[in-house]
Formats: sequence, C-alpha cells, structure tokens
Amino acid sequence: MARTTFYITTPIYYPSDDLHVGHAYTTVAADALARFHRLRGEEVFFLTGTDEHGQKIERRAAAAGLAPAPFVEGIVAGIRSLWEQLGISHDGFLRTTEERHARAVQEVFRTLRDRGDIYKASYEGWYCTPCEAFWLPSKLVDGNCPDCGRPVERLREESYFFRLSRYQKRLLAHLEEHPDFVQPPSRRNEMLNFVRQGLEDLSISRTSFSWGIPVPDDPDHVIYVWFDALLNYLSGIGYPDEGFRHWWPAQLHLVGKEIVRFHAVIWPCILMALDLPLPERVYGHGWLLMGDTKMSKSRGNTVDPRQLIQRYGRDALRYFLLREVPFGSDGAYSEEALVRRTNVDLANDLGNLLSRTTAMIERFAGGVIPPGGADPGGLARLSEEVTGEVTRALEGLELSGALTAVWRLVARANKLIEERSPWALAKAGDPALDPLLYSLAETLRVTAVLLAPFLMDTPGRILEQLGSPAAPAWADAAWGGLVPGTRIRRGAPLFPRLVPDPAGPQHPAAVPAAPPEEVSLEEFQRLDLRIATVREASQVAGADRLLRLSLALDGEVRTVVAGIAAAYRPEDLVGRQVLFLANLRPARIRGVTSQGMILAASGSDGPRLLSPDRDVPDGTRVR
Ligand SMILES: [Zn+2]
Repeated sequence: MARTTFYITTPIYYPSDDLHVGHAYTTVAADALARFHRLRGEEVFFLTGTDEHGQKIERRAAAAGLAPAPFVEGIVAGIRSLWEQLGISHDGFLRTTEERHARAVQEVFRTLRDRGDIYKASYEGWYCTPCEAFWLPSKLVDGNCPDCGRPVERLREESYFFRLSRYQKRLLAHLEEHPDFVQPPSRRNEMLNFVRQGLEDLSISRTSFSWGIPVPDDPDHVIYVWFDALLNYLSGIGYPDEGFRHWWPAQLHLVGKEIVRFHAVIWPCILMALDLPLPERVYGHGWLLMGDTKMSKSRGNTVDPRQLIQRYGRDALRYFLLREVPFGSDGAYSEEALVRRTNVDLANDLGNLLSRTTAMIERFAGGVIPPGGADPGGLARLSEEVTGEVTRALEGLELSGALTAVWRLVARANKLIEERSPWALAKAGDPALDPLLYSLAETLRVTAVLLAPFLMDTPGRILEQLGSPAAPAWADAAWGGLVPGTRIRRGAPLFPRLVPDPAGPQHPAAVPAAPPEEVSLEEFQRLDLRIATVREASQVAGADRLLRLSLALDGEVRTVVAGIAAAYRPEDLVGRQVLFLANLRPARIRGVTSQGMILAASGSDGPRLLSPDRDVPDGTRVR
C-alpha cells in the first residue's frame, strides 16, 4: 500500500526587503507540521520559495540602481540562510524566476486560453500599484484602494482576463459543502460573504512594466503577479509533468490572513478551470503585532529574526513563536515576552526537571535508569492522555494548544518531585524511589519525542542525557520506552537563564529600588565571591556597552559579559584583578554565555570596578 502523502506549503515570500519575524512565524509553523507528519511515517513534501516578479520589485531595483534579477539575488540568498539558521526542513524551494516555473505558468495560460477561460479585452479602471490590482469604481473606498487605502491611478489598457465569474457557483458550493476548506471559521465566513456578492473576471496581464513572465505568443503582456505566484504550488512539484500528481492535491496551504482571498477564491477557480482537484485546506493564521499594529516593513516596526536567533538561540525563538499565540488569532510580539517564555517554560520547568532527574539518578541509582513499577503520581496515564491530546491538536493545527498540553505533563512531573521528596525516600531506603525516578526519566523521554516537531536541538539533547536513541518516531511517545539499566549522561543545563539584551531598545527601565530586605549570614554565604584576573577583554559585536572578558580563577577560565564598555577600554582591563560572583546562574547575552558577574560600584558617572588593594592569588574567596 502506498504511504500517505502530505503536501504542505508556505506562501512564497516577496524579496523586496529582508524578512522579519512575522515571516519566520509562518515558516516555523509549517515546519513543525511537516516534521509532525514525517515523524508519523507519512511521505511529506514541504514547499516554500520566493515570489520575485512584479512592478514593485522592478521599481525597488531601479531605485537601488540595479536590474531586478541581481537585486533579488542577494535578498533570496538571505532568506535561504535564515531558513537554514532556523532549522526549516523544506523539501523544495521554488523561485518564480526559475525556468521550470515559467514553463508551468505559460502552459497553464495556454491551456486556459484554448478552453476560453482566458480572453483578451480592453479595460479601463482604477489601478493600485502597490497591490498591482485593478478596481471597479464601485469597489473603491473614498476613492482609494479598498485593500491598502492608498490612492489609485486611472489606467486604460488591453488586458487578458481570467473568467472567474464562470466558477462562482461551483466555488460557493464547494465552500458550503467543505467546512474545512477554509479555516479558521472566521476566515471561511469572510470568504463565503465575498463569493456570495459575485465574482468578476480578473485581469491577469499587464503592459505597464516588463519584469514578469511573458504571455505566450503576446510578449507585450506580462502575466499578473498573483496568477504567476499561485501557480508555484504546482510548478514546485513538477507540473506540467505527470509526476506532480503524486503530491497534488495539497493537504495544506498555510497563509497569513491578509492573503486568504487569493488562496480561497482565485486559486480554486484556476484549479477548477484546469480540471484539477482543490487543496484540502487553506489556513489563514493571525498576525504578530507590535503593540496594536501589524509588523511590516512599511511601518518600520519589524524585528530581525537573525538577531533573535543569535541572542537567544533558535529553539527559544521557535518555542516562543509557536507557544505564545493561538495559531488562528493575532498576538503581540515583544522581546520581554520571549525572554519570559524561555526562562519560565524552557529553563525552569523543562530544564530543571531534566537536571534534577538526572542528578537524582546519578546520586541514588548509580547513574543508570532504575526499574519502573506501579505508576507513581499517574505519570504514565497522564503521558498517554497528553500524547493523544498533542496528536489531535497538531492535526487541528493548534500548535500552541499542543505545547500547552506537553507542559501539563512537565508540570505534573515537577510537582511530583515536591510531593514525594525523593531525597527523603533515599534516606529512608524506601523502595518507592526507583519507580519514581523511572517515571520522571520516562516523562522526560516522552516529552522529548512530543517536542520533536517544534524544537531543533533540545529533544536530541534530552534524549542523549537519558541515553536514549536520538532520532525518534511519533510512535515512540508511547509510555515505557526507556530501558532500565541504561546509563545516563548528565550534560549542561538545557537553557541558560536569559536576560533581555541590555544594549537592546527594549531593555526595561530601571525601577527605583525598594529598601533591601535583611538576609541571614547563611544566605550571604551562598554567594561564591572570588578574586579573578582579567586575561582577555574585547568588545561584544553589535553592542556598544558590552565587553566580553576572560577571567582566570584558580586554574579555571570563565567568560563573562559586562556592561562596562562606556567606562573601560578593553586593553586597560587586561591583567587587572576584579571581584567576581562565581556561582551566578549562566545567562546568554548577545549570543555569548556569561558564566558569572564582575562587581562594580554603580555611581552616577558609570560603573567603577572593585579590586583588592594588593594582588592576591586568583580564586581567593571573599567573605
Ligand atoms: Zn492597494
């Protein structure tokens, strides 16, 4: 029997500017779904790419003093490298400037013209250049473009038209009979209303510019950029060669909500005209907002995902994007929220569960997975329940819901450690200890499997520490996979605690300090204060206020990042002794893991470093 195929697409991106975190959002979501279906053993094709034609690109290139082709080249290379950094697992990358795509588009154009679905007519209308769309006077809003609100120009030209009107009834029937075709339901209702108002034939060629695919046998016309772009979903899998039928129809077109109409109205009508089956589902996800507005280049409020990856790591960014916002809704982006999510969910909940569990197995079970037993705290039962829930959520594209379910399991395991206090069990030689440790480790293994669609590096690191095979399948989420007697390998903490970039624009303003509360001597003695010597010092790339220091500490070298660049030049610090807090939890700052903190008096004229009044051996304790 043939394996189930799963064909999933992102929109193809417009290479007029570098991509922002909103584009990363769509692509990471598609990637998680593609990985989920692969883990289930399905045959997956995940297509993304770039939409490189049109007047906007032609004008942007001219403004940059370049021809369109070399102009887009650098931007497309940047997009590819961003997907690589984010771990995007696409199987195909389609550029609309490729020959295979032009061939498919011209083939479709010819076929539809031969069938009478494309005809040539003279046309006079209102044209919006940014949207590359003609509008009837009745559709204008206060004389402006109904999509973007910008002024339109009166234009008369000959154009080819696609007979959209011919397919209105069939499309309406399809929308009504297939509630899953357009999702979520709010977008489906918008589309039903739109189609019920009637469809007009669509102008699909332009003569006012030349950066596009020429109309076959009429090269004064280039093909409208949306007609061109939508066909990537066919050309990317080999159309018109018959092999494309292995993948077609697509199971899922993932798009931003602003382009649902092109995918839910124009695209199915083109496919009907070609006698091809329609995609199973078009899903219009919500926007990432900055404050109250959509993130977009024209509003100047975008965030560069490459900086976030460098600062926080790709798993933190992927987790935040998929967890923070329910997938169909709009949600607010902020760097503080990203840091909070990473610290609370990844560093505390998940990271601590792993480090506590492996530490206890080292200490109480000789570093090997002990035998399991009854189901302490119901973790096995909960794990099976959560696995079912995550599977259903991913089938229903509820990515955030799936992660919420995984964290119910993590939270229960952490709570169980508090309830059963394994340290006391060990002290009392209680036989309940072994099954408890087994269940905690097995919960972590199941969690790693369930996180495999979402995170790139973390699942493998968890499995490695548990001594488990690193490349799981979805079926491995079944309880009981961990083999007693397996040696564990404790490793570094999964996620160092993050601090927001102190040089970044979003650093929270300092709040007036409350009077310090009293501490006991024991509390003070928990601070491991040492004297260390600065061996190397350098500026942190891209951060004016930060220096990266290497400190010698009694046979050990530590890296720290310190916000003292305004007060000290790197070369003045080398050889100097400083007061150093050695047991501060490591934190990632601007891509550097800072392992401690040097102490300074913080006066109104900036930081002043503290040193012993004469040199002492490195590592000397301060009390
Ligand atoms: Zn417009």
